[in-house]
Amino acid sequence: VLGMVFLTNVLAWNQSAISHTFLISWTFAIVFVSGIKLTVFYRHYHAHHEASNSSFDKTKLWYRFFLSTTALTGILLGIGGIFFRAPDVQLGYILFPTALAGLSLSAAVLFSSCFPAFLLFTVFSMLPFGFYAFFTDSAEGITLAIADLIFLLFVIFAAHKLHLFTLGFLHLQNHILSIVKFMDQNRSKLVELQDQSQVTNISPLSAGLSPTKSYQLLESMVEAGTQELLNAYQEVRQNKERLELAITASNLGLWDWDLVSDHVYYQNFEGILGYKEDEEPGFMAHLQSLVHPEDFPLVRHAMADHLKGKTRFYLVEYRVKHKSGKWIWVEDRGKVVEWKNKRAKRLIGTHRDISVNKDTTEQLQLAATVFDNISEAIFILDTELNFISVNNYFTTITGYTLTDVHHCSIMDYRHVPESVKAQYEEIHNHLNRYGFWQGELLERRKNGDTYPQWLQINAIYDDKNNIRQYVGIFSDLTTRKESEEQLRYLATYDSITGLANRSLFKNRLHAAINHARQNHSKLALLYIDLDRFKPINDTYGHEFGDKILSAAAERLISVMPSADTISRLGSDEFTVILDNYISSSQVAELCEKLIKTMKAPFIINNIEIALGCSIGVSEYPRNAKELQTMLNQADSAMYQSKRLGGNSYHFFTGNLQTYTLDKVKLETQLRKAIFEDEIVVYFQPKLNLANDTIDSVEALVRWDHPTDGMLTPDNFVPIAEETGLVSAIGEVVIGKVCQQLIDWRNKGLGSIKVSINLSAQQIHKGDMAKVIGNILDKYQIDANLLEVELTESILMEDVHETVASLNKIRAMGISILLDDFGTGYSSLSYLKKFPIDVLKIDKSFVEDIDTDPDDAAIVKAIIAMAHSLDLSVIAEGVERNEHLAFLRAHGCDGVQGHLISEPLNGANMAELLLKQKSAANAG
Ligand code: C2E
Ligand code: CA
Ligand code: CA
Repeated sequence: VLGMVFLTNVLAWNQSAISHTFLISWTFAIVFVSGIKLTVFYRHYHAHHEASNSSFDKTKLWYRFFLSTTALTGILLGIGGIFFRAPDVQLGYILFPTALAGLSLSAAVLFSSCFPAFLLFTVFSMLPFGFYAFFTDSAEGITLAIADLIFLLFVIFAAHKLHLFTLGFLHLQNHILSIVKFMDQNRSKLVELQDQSQVTNISPLSAGLSPTKSYQLLESMVEAGTQELLNAYQEVRQNKERLELAITASNLGLWDWDLVSDHVYYQNFEGILGYKEDEEPGFMAHLQSLVHPEDFPLVRHAMADHLKGKTRFYLVEYRVKHKSGKWIWVEDRGKVVEWKNKRAKRLIGTHRDISVNKDTTEQLQLAATVFDNISEAIFILDTELNFISVNNYFTTITGYTLTDVHHCSIMDYRHVPESVKAQYEEIHNHLNRYGFWQGELLERRKNGDTYPQWLQINAIYDDKNNIRQYVGIFSDLTTRKESEEQLRYLATYDSITGLANRSLFKNRLHAAINHARQNHSKLALLYIDLDRFKPINDTYGHEFGDKILSAAAERLISVMPSADTISRLGSDEFTVILDNYISSSQVAELCEKLIKTMKAPFIINNIEIALGCSIGVSEYPRNAKELQTMLNQADSAMYQSKRLGGNSYHFFTGNLQTYTLDKVKLETQLRKAIFEDEIVVYFQPKLNLANDTIDSVEALVRWDHPTDGMLTPDNFVPIAEETGLVSAIGEVVIGKVCQQLIDWRNKGLGSIKVSINLSAQQIHKGDMAKVIGNILDKYQIDANLLEVELTESILMEDVHETVASLNKIRAMGISILLDDFGTGYSSLSYLKKFPIDVLKIDKSFVEDIDTDPDDAAIVKAIIAMAHSLDLSVIAEGVERNEHLAFLRAHGCDGVQGHLISEPLNGANMAELLLKQKSAANAG
């Protein structure tokens, strides 16, 4: 429009028919109207473009303004057409109408979306010119007017068609935009859709549209959207993978329970519980079979509470059966995520394996319980020996509570003498060097009493091997000491007479010999046997006999300067140890005195009894230099007195005819016996009470004497010991035992252990470990099958060497058994020094175990104490069912005795074992 106005001005300025005033006014009016219109249109366009509704809202003010200004422009152009139609203006004939026609065509296109605007513009600009030409001109003007009209009609028709098409296009465009908007809003749903149908390309959505420009536009928009969706999908997938990885790594199992369909989706179920996907259980109903029966009510409760909305979370710990069959602890945690009509629709949660935590917690709890309830006092100290913690039993023993001692040094928390503090200093040094200390201390309780304490302290190290704390454990030895004393008394004193028993006697004699040896002094042993006691005992009964024995003991004591030199060996045999005497005549004097005292009648239960005694004397060092020899000699001297009618005493001399003859004869016979293979080994089974089977036997030597028959050890072992033959016999026994083991093995009787008895000489002379080792090698027998039995008196001689020798034997794998326990020192603290595995309670305690409360107490105490020292206990001499019942009830580990079997020869023993084996197979 403006271009045309400019051109008109250039051409019309010099035309005289057109006044300049009109031209300027006309030009100004058009420029003004067009300017306003453009400004408004521009503003409107920017204000409403975002709203993207490009079709016109006909109710708006600006639309009416737009139509008015368009019409105004048309009118102004129409007015221009009339004026430039003046006859002298060349321009009016051709140029102006042509330009108007061109403007109309342009308007048809420009206003294609707004047909009224086109109509107003075209009609107002074209019609005035036509009318003017029609009415004012000649034929020429009429032709022009008709041409103007025809052109106008065609343009209107074309403009209308174009308008309709444009409307269609705009409609389509809106439609597409709304699709895109819809897709945009539903992108997440589409991802899901695509995920499920595995469709990776959604371009088919746009299929069916015609391949027009709009289609291409739509397709490109849809493709852009698809790409965006794919990117989003990709990201979601990566996130999901990351989440899965995180879940697996964190040892969590994820579950998602749809309560409506009761379908459970599990993730990492296998990782936690070992079940494959197809073995996964449903939720409550099926899970029940996996949850520990004790825990299931808990799980159900927690679930019910949460579903009822009582709890914010569902959280419970319970045991589940792992695929491998073992129980594992899981923490199950969940929450309802969807509700419908106040009913839970969907629950999501996690399983977590907490077995390790649980184990540690349980262990910690256990440790704490032990700490507080153990019957040993425990305390924890820092590196400066200040108390950090003490347990309940610490308070029980010492009287001090944790508050009393907290942060106090172990040296200062109670009043103790400097010597005790010095001892703790020493312990501290020892701990810093070796990390461990144990020993006995005399400590003081809160009430001021002192008490013996057995203390063990360990250093606790940190990662860098620095001491972090000390842990001490102690027990109050008072009661143990008391019961040990009692046990010792019971075990070493004779209950009838109150005198020392055989074992105490042996210890005393042993000590006396050592003393005499060191001081080069003399020693005499009196062996006293009552005359005629046995027939009296048989006639009047045991109770009566016991009274005679106790009366006789009193008389002995009355004669002797001190009671602790007298012992009762058994039945009616007594001994007296005399040291510090000057001459044998002094001893003889005492013997006469004793005989005289015993001759006087005893009156018991108003019955007068005439006894008497025979005495034998052996002297150190004149006759004997060893305990057993001394005893044997005194015994044979006593026998001599007896043979000569009783009520007499004899000193042992080499001239004792019979004895010496016997001895020499026996010695030669015994030497021969070894070479003639008259030494035989019998076996007596030991019953293991843990499984009621015979898994070990004791080897007992016998002498198959050519004329006297099968002799038991007491007939020849003392002589063998005296003459030094016992070692040789011992070797024969071990060899025979090995042969027997091979035989039993060949018979398929399993590995039976055999114990052999060793005498003092075997242990103290020569290298016993080596001797045994050689024989075992020769027969290719495993050392584990061998045990050795020793008596306490053997241990007490030369302690240092004995321990060394026993350690060697034990190192080979041979167990060590302490025989006849209870008849010797029986001190347990002393026993700790020796490498011992088993205690064998002497048969003298077992004999009356069910009738004599003293014996019962001793046996009980021995068993308990042995166990506290980690030793096994067996009992020998078990003859009656009552014995067995008692021992079993009190935790004895094994028994041996006639109730099980007497000693048997190898063949009979094999038969017994075979019987046991077939019984076991049948059972
Ligand atoms: P011991 O080691 O105390 O052996 C147990 C003795 O008690 C055996 O006597 C056995 O027959 C016997 N006995 C077994 N059960 C009962 C029972 O229920 N009641 C009773 N009253 N006695 C039972 P044995 O065979 O006469 O042996 C006597 C001692 O000879 C043994 O006492 C042991 O110290 C010693 N001895 C045995 N064999 C050897 C050996 O090879 N070498 C050495 N140096 N000494 C041996
Ligand atoms: Ca034995
Ligand atoms: Ca024994």
